[in-house]
Amino acid sequence: MNYASMSAAELTSMKEQLTAVLNEYKSKNLSLDLSRGKPNAEQLDLCEGMLTVLSKTEDCFAENGFDCRNYGVLDGIPEAKKLFSDLLDIPEKNIIVCGNSSLNLMYDAVARAVTHGVSKEDTPWSKLDKVKFICPVPGYDRHFAVTESFGIELVNVDMLPTGPDMDAVEELVKDPSVKGIWCCPKYSNPDGITYSDDTVRRLAALKPAAKDFRIFWDNAYVIHHLYEDKRDELLDIFKEAEKYGNEDMIYYFASTSKVSFPGAGVAIIAASEKNVAYIKSLMAFQTIGHDKLNQLRHVKYFGNAENVMRHMARLAEIIRPKFDIVKTIFTEELEGTGTATWTEPVGGYFISLYVNDGCAKRVWQLAKETGVTLTGAGASYPYGIDPRDRNIRIAPTFPKNEDLTLSMKILTCCIKLAAIEKLLETK
Ligand code: PMP
Repeated sequence: MNYASMSAAELTSMKEQLTAVLNEYKSKNLSLDLSRGKPNAEQLDLCEGMLTVLSKTEDCFAENGFDCRNYGVLDGIPEAKKLFSDLLDIPEKNIIVCGNSSLNLMYDAVARAVTHGVSKEDTPWSKLDKVKFICPVPGYDRHFAVTESFGIELVNVDMLPTGPDMDAVEELVKDPSVKGIWCCPKYSNPDGITYSDDTVRRLAALKPAAKDFRIFWDNAYVIHHLYEDKRDELLDIFKEAEKYGNEDMIYYFASTSKVSFPGAGVAIIAASEKNVAYIKSLMAFQTIGHDKLNQLRHVKYFGNAENVMRHMARLAEIIRPKFDIVKTIFTEELEGTGTATWTEPVGGYFISLYVNDGCAKRVWQLAKETGVTLTGAGASYPYGIDPRDRNIRIAPTFPKNEDLTLSMKILTCCIKLAAIEKLLETK
């Protein structure tokens, strides 16, 4: 039954019942954490072989004979470039294979733009009075935090089922102080949306007033399908951008964080040849070379792109039931109540929950008091401010299935209770 059509008396009685249920849970002193999108131990165990793939000196040489135990090779060993090239369908000459974190590479890309400019010809953003960045919302909190940390003004643009609202983006880029946009184009964090072909084409075709505008294309979940037979396809941004002479506008990022070991994987930045040359020229001051032994470990363990995809299918088998748990409990408990909607992505790491306007913080607080820690309400928005206070990111991968089930049961009680409290304010 839709709660909005219930009388004040019915709502009050329901509120009492839900409070009693939550009190029962509280007495169990639970401590359940669903706050970050991390692989669970079973997923990590699947890569155990990677820990021993380099076990003696002779294992430590690249195919071209380079001794990976030593300094050198700024842009990554050739076989690691080839592996990423095959996986992502990006030419090797456009890829720099780096260290353990793509977020680190995104931070560095923003930092370079601020201190040196995006090319030799461009003014460092630090010399400008105002720099703004487009932030599709909800989005990844750490993206927004990177630009915020440099004093860049964050401008919200709504995410639609097709990706960022392109009418709004096209309007905003007429402002020369708008220098970039954050994109998580496939199985987006947190909605799980994949940008439509039209969205990718319109992004690739942008003619921003700022000549040094950059699209930060964080393809973090590029191969993270949940189903074998249901997969989103994402158009190739580089191929589209080339049609408009816009290839310099794209910075592409990816990593194996949720393929092998988060924090101990391999990350890449891909870009036009001009951008790659410029990035390398500045990167050369930062490092003599990244961790090539880890690059080698990944290449030796996986062997080729097909094996990586086989591994991803095995990971999906572990996490798919977790997504199903959330979907089933939400459907059973919330469908028809008018208290929430949620996304049902076919890949990535998150489900995005939308509670009634003005209820997300309250839901978060009720869950916290009952022993369930969720990603902070508002976290998926610049400055932590969700203008409608309605989005909560659900990260189902880490907890054990029984803990996840319990957490979702508690969460649905909290959602209903918060909705009732809100409705009672106006009855
Ligand atoms: N981008 C997105 C969209 C993410 O969700 C995450 C991890 N939560 C990252 C980047 C972090 O990637 P890395 O481990 O390569 O720094």
